[in-house]
Amino acid sequence: MGIKKIAVGGISTECSTYSPLYQNENDFVSLQGQTLLDLIGFPFDDYGIETYPVFFNRSIPGGPIESQYFRQTKDKFIAEIESLGTLDGVLLIMHGAIFVDGIDDPEGEWIEAVRCVVGEDCIISVSFDLHGQMTDKIVNNIDAFAAYRTAPHIDVEETYKRASKMLADALTNNERPIVLWAPIPLLVSGEMSSTFTEPCQSIYKNLELLDQRQGIIDSNLMVGYVWADTQRSTASAVVTCSNKNTGAEVCKIIASHYWDSRQQLKFDMRSGDISSAINSIPKNFSIIADSGDNPTAGGVGDRADVLEAALRERIEHVLFAGIASESAYNELQRGNEFNIGGSFGGGGPNLELNADEVYFEEQCAIVKVKNITIIISKRRRPFHYLTDFNSLRLKLQDYRLLVVKSGYLSPDLQGLSCPSFMALSNGAVNQDLKSIENHHRKKPAFPFQEFNEFVPEVSDGSNLLS
Ligand SMILES: [Zn+2]
Repeated sequence: MGIKKIAVGGISTECSTYSPLYQNENDFVSLQGQTLLDLIGFPFDDYGIETYPVFFNRSIPGGPIESQYFRQTKDKFIAEIESLGTLDGVLLIMHGAIFVDGIDDPEGEWIEAVRCVVGEDCIISVSFDLHGQMTDKIVNNIDAFAAYRTAPHIDVEETYKRASKMLADALTNNERPIVLWAPIPLLVSGEMSSTFTEPCQSIYKNLELLDQRQGIIDSNLMVGYVWADTQRSTASAVVTCSNKNTGAEVCKIIASHYWDSRQQLKFDMRSGDISSAINSIPKNFSIIADSGDNPTAGGVGDRADVLEAALRERIEHVLFAGIASESAYNELQRGNEFNIGGSFGGGGPNLELNADEVYFEEQCAIVKVKNITIIISKRRRPFHYLTDFNSLRLKLQDYRLLVVKSGYLSPDLQGLSCPSFMALSNGAVNQDLKSIENHHRKKPAFPFQEFNEFVPEVSDGSNLLS
């Protein structure tokens, strides 16, 4: 048996169709060469497989990707794959929630283009975020599939390894797996389907048991991405298998399990509107998550709704981490007066403020206004980890309240074990799902419509299986 040859790469982001901030090359970081192979971290060499890194472009979630940038990047990827000559396999690292104007299924198009170039004999294994969308086109063009099993995501590397191992095994044993899927007409936010609380904790734990069945290689539940008002937006069960019948059975088990749990899908934090969040904070240290503007879910990241409420209520010793505004950052470089909020066109108040103190660190202005400290970042970014505060010389113990732009809290912030509250604020990733516009999603879909009848239908991407 000769040396096998595979290519590795892909594109990953989440695109809220409610965000006015289009993404382009300035938003993406491109991982290439050894950096990309280190990210995957799988010992393909041990299997006698040579790995050719193409590129993996990823960005902080935001609005739709500019059509020209998406097409150019896809064409470049395909050209590089083509230049590698005959390939035995491709490992694609994707997210699954890209939106591009005029393209119904961006990942499907990307993967189909790869298939066209590499031919039918090549094994394509794909890694997705569980907040991605599946389609017939995707399933039809791949041979193996693995998605994260934790949200918040702490199994990214393991997922790359699961997808890598399926590819390595298929090439070593000359056994081609099959991918099956079943859409589930249910769309909720990641915060309602955290795998660290029920019902999803049990549902995801059960996937490990389903993997043990004869004929099953890797079973998955895709929650989907709720803030894309598109035809393809849906949850789904996706199974990589060697036996179609068992695979179909397991798809139906996962789909029914999730559907039957739909009424239990709830936030795992106390939640309510901004004023109830502000009014419920205790004297001791606590956290408010400004969830509608969370940049890691696709929020714009510059809304000042919670800041306005805190100033109005005269709450002191608050740390706002953070608000993105290049214009406010530049104003503060020149003087103490600055405007903040709503500058990216995503809505919310614009506040005219005067800084009592200011210092600059790592592309951020740290401003004190009426005993409230605000981190103003030049670029959109989250502040979800303790190192983010340390590197700005901020100590959380100096504050009574931390306001972060986040949905569910990161493991770091959860680890502080303090009272926390999710503000159901307005924005591009509004958690009040029934209030968001819904023109294109397939109907019916829970919770947009209430209904009880659902019988899972399993497909191999081309045909429905009976
Ligand atoms: Zn995700």
